[in-house]
Amino acid sequence: MTRVAQKIRIYPTDVQKQQLARAMGCCRWWYNHALNVCNQTYKETGKGISRNGLNALLPSLKEEHEWLKTDVYSQSLQQTTLNLSRAFINFFEKRAKYPRFKSKHKKQSVGFPQSVRIEGDYIYLPKIKLVKAVFDRKYIGKIKTVTVTKDSDDRYFASIIYEVDACFVSGNSDKILGIDLGIKEFAIVHDGSKTSKYANPRHIKKHEKNLARKQKKLARKKLDSKSRKKAKKIVAKVHARISNSRQDFLHKLSRKLTNESQVIVVENLNVRGLVRNHKLAKAISDVGWGMFVNFLSYKLEREDKKLVEIDRFFPSSHICPECLTQQPKMDLSVREWTCINKACNAHHDRDEAASKNIRAEGIRMLKADGAAVSASGGSVRQDRGRKTKVMQHPVKLETPSSYDVG
Ligand SMILES: [Zn+2]
Repeated sequence: MTRVAQKIRIYPTDVQKQQLARAMGCCRWWYNHALNVCNQTYKETGKGISRNGLNALLPSLKEEHEWLKTDVYSQSLQQTTLNLSRAFINFFEKRAKYPRFKSKHKKQSVGFPQSVRIEGDYIYLPKIKLVKAVFDRKYIGKIKTVTVTKDSDDRYFASIIYEVDACFVSGNSDKILGIDLGIKEFAIVHDGSKTSKYANPRHIKKHEKNLARKQKKLARKKLDSKSRKKAKKIVAKVHARISNSRQDFLHKLSRKLTNESQVIVVENLNVRGLVRNHKLAKAISDVGWGMFVNFLSYKLEREDKKLVEIDRFFPSSHICPECLTQQPKMDLSVREWTCINKACNAHHDRDEAASKNIRAEGIRMLKADGAAVSASGGSVRQDRGRKTKVMQHPVKLETPSSYDVG
């Protein structure tokens, strides 16, 4: 069995919108309350508080606040607890920042871990009942969880996680892909025989002028005026459009590469450090490397495939893939180079060489860790019962906002 996720647009009625708003409000309240409890407990005792510990607080809170009983499906609150504890795990495992309080001005969500079903063009949610939905495709499988979100544009989506037979979903290539994440190109992928380049969609640039103009307009509006509210909504719309098209690109590409492979090797870029220190910061955050690696990692994990992250200090762009001679440091502007080993003298495209080196280093790590890799670097077989250490386990479907999918 494997998990697939699907994100669909849903169209709640006005009454259902109100019900969803109350349920989202309850979940947000509980998330913030629980986070506060965690913070306090930590301050006082130096210890955390478990998911069960948090859930144990719910019954008395429900006595105190009637609306926690009436306005929200009880399982949705439990799901919220789970999301919070995952957020803490991600923090402790250094994959995410410390959990923050949820704002009612940001994207809202509510999770339904049980009792959801699909009936024709409707999705049935506990307490909310049948909500009109548009499916691009249907899966045969069991629904694990559904998260309903409302974005800044007042649009509603349901992210559904299904458990399905693996044969329904994945492409089954046995390739190992090495990916160099670039600036000029978004990704350069080497599969052992050929290199493919995936262009960088510069959404932000295209929309930036538009955004700047709308933001200026917004700044000129009087505080608390009706037209300010309107302008604010327009700015949010442009933001949403940018982030949608970026995510769409990242989902499609990560889906394609996951289908084409068994193992994907990437550099552990420590994107956040890079963003802080580098003048390329803007371009980097635009292209969303971190998000891309995150998408890759959970798509691969769901299909029992592997993500190998190699050390970011591995000099992938300074080694000749032919003869393994280390090259002198090169400026980022150098796009092509010739090997300094006179006997080799191979000429390389910088990014292509990097993707080859990353792939080779990933294979080396897999072998060192006991995986059987065929001579061509084709198939991978892990020794039975042996958990490999090179795999950084992906950020699982941690927060509702990263549930989106492809
Ligand atoms: Zn060489």
